[in-house]
Amino acid sequence: MPDVAVIIAAGGAGKRMGGKIPKQFLRVGTRPIIARTVLAFDGIAAVRQIVVVVPKGYAAQTRRLLKRAGPRKPLLVVEGGRERQDSVRTGLDHVSGDPGIVLIHDAVRPFVTRRVIHDVIRETARFGAAVVGVKVKDTIKKEGKTGFYESTLPRHLLWAVQTPQGFKTHLIRKAHDQALRDRFTGTDDAMLVERLGFRVRIVEGEYGNAKITTRDDLLSARRWVGGGE
Ligand code: C5P
Repeated sequence: MPDVAVIIAAGGAGKRMGGKIPKQFLRVGTRPIIARTVLAFDGIAAVRQIVVVVPKGYAAQTRRLLKRAGPRKPLLVVEGGRERQDSVRTGLDHVSGDPGIVLIHDAVRPFVTRRVIHDVIRETARFGAAVVGVKVKDTIKKEGKTGFYESTLPRHLLWAVQTPQGFKTHLIRKAHDQALRDRFTGTDDAMLVERLGFRVRIVEGEYGNAKITTRDDLLSARRWVGGGE
């Protein structure tokens, strides 16, 4: 098993759900979402360090909150940037030593399972880059002229991509460096690796590894863990 570092992207300060608190700090059941997510990775043997990237001004309170969760692995909390990609780059800068593999995960996906994390680590070790996704259930169409569909994409080839996304450390560092030089912003980290010409392995994931983005997602997550609303 290779050494694994985990970057938890929790740097988003926007899209607050009605209140003052960014969504990754809201509670689901007895714990804040961010603590659940950190603990999911803390329990994996190959994980050697966890870097949590939070919005500016949230580092001290996050350290306190995560200390209460009682993680066993070395954990660093740093402040991120304006875009998710900036936050991940900051996380990469704080990964210490040279772990073979880096996993990047959204803080707002607390329901990631051990099976998914292990599969991503294994396939990253084999192929250099591996990303969890689920087959799309809906038919996806492309917009052409504003307000009209132009074409229908072949559903059997389409995947809705989630995190964790795993990469050999040198590869993801190179991909982020190149994106910064080119001023390129991707919608995920795998995209930065793909544009260098590398193949990214598909890992079949779980629909339950959903991103808590809207108020409805939060309510479903709370029902899911039986913590009431
Ligand atoms: O923006 P979105 O809701 O898709 O965020 C996905 C994840 O990326 C969240 O966990 C969020 O906290 C994180 N993020 C970040 N830095 C930003 C923006 C988002 O780490 N500047």
